[in-house]
Amino acid sequence: MDKKTQEDFKNLQSIFKSAHSKKHECLLCSDNAINSHVLQKNGILNLISSNNHVIQIKSKDFFSIDESGLLDIKSVGINSAMSYPLFCNFHDTHVFAPIEKEELNLNLYISQLLFSYRALCAEMRKKIINVDIFHRVKDSSHFAFRGPLLEMAKMQIEANTMGINDMDWFKTEFEKAIIDPENNKNYVFEKMEFDFIPVSVSAVYSPINPEVHKLEVLMNSANILNYIFINLIPQNNKLTLIIGYHKLKKDEWIMNYITSWKNINQKEFEIKLNDLLATKIETWCISPEYFLTLNTKNIDLFKKYWNDNAMNLKITQAIDFNIFE
Ligand SMILES: [Zn+2]
Repeated sequence: MDKKTQEDFKNLQSIFKSAHSKKHECLLCSDNAINSHVLQKNGILNLISSNNHVIQIKSKDFFSIDESGLLDIKSVGINSAMSYPLFCNFHDTHVFAPIEKEELNLNLYISQLLFSYRALCAEMRKKIINVDIFHRVKDSSHFAFRGPLLEMAKMQIEANTMGINDMDWFKTEFEKAIIDPENNKNYVFEKMEFDFIPVSVSAVYSPINPEVHKLEVLMNSANILNYIFINLIPQNNKLTLIIGYHKLKKDEWIMNYITSWKNINQKEFEIKLNDLLATKIETWCISPEYFLTLNTKNIDLFKKYWNDNAMNLKITQAIDFNIFE
C-alpha cells in the first residue's frame, strides 16, 4: 500500500470511528440511545453462543483490508452481537417488554410486530450512520480534491437518505399497529417452524426487481419500496421463522417468496437459508461451534460473493454454493 492510500485509510478509519462512537438519539425521543440487541441475549442468542461468542458478518478494520475485501465473517462477543444504538433505556425496556419475557409467545401478533419493528429500526440506524459517514467524507479537507470519491459519497448520501425515508413510512405504520394490535392488522405475518439449526436472523429486505425498478423508479423519492421482515428465532428444539409484510406494500414476488418457505424439507430449507444470508440480508449470526463444522471452501465462496455483492438487493441473484452442505 503506498503512502497516499495509507493516509486515505487512516482518514477513513477515523471518520468511521467518530461516526460509530458518537452518541445517537433514541429513535422515539431525544434522549441518548443505549445499545439494543435486535435479538435478545437471554433466551435467544445464548442458545447459539459458545463462550459468550457468536459468528457474524463484520467489516474489517481499515488497516487490515486486503484483496479479499471489506467484509469478513468473525466471532464477536454476545454483548455486541446484533446490537445497535436504537432506543433510550426507557423505550428499550417498555416498548419491548412483551417479547423480553421468559415465556416468549411467537404466535402473538404483538410479538411478531415487535421483532420486525426492532429489525427495521436497526436497518434504519445503519443507514443514518452511513449518511453521517459520507457527509464527513464529503466535508473532509483531506478528500477535497478527490472527484470520484466525492461523487460516490454524494450518491451514498442520496441512496441512504431515500432508504431512511422509505423505512420511516414502515416505522410509523409499525408504531400505529404496536399501540393498537387488536384493531390495526396492517402488517401480516406467517410463522413457520423448522428443525433446529444454531442460527438467528432479524432483518428487513427490499426486493429489487430489475424489470420494474429501473433507475428512474429507484431515484424517485416519492416511491416507497416494498419491504419484507424476516426473523429466524432459535428456540430450545426448533427454529421459528416469522416473515411478514405490510398490506399496502406487497407484490407478487413477496407473496411467492413467503409461500416458498412453506412445506419444504430440511434440505430445501438450508438452500433457502443460504440464499437468504448470501443474497438478501446481513443481520444474522451463527453458533461458533456449528460454524467450524461448515465446509471452508463454501465459506470462502460465500465471503467472496458477499464482498462483490454487499449492496446488491436484486431478486435475480443466483448463487452456486451452499454453506450448509
Ligand atoms: Zn426514547
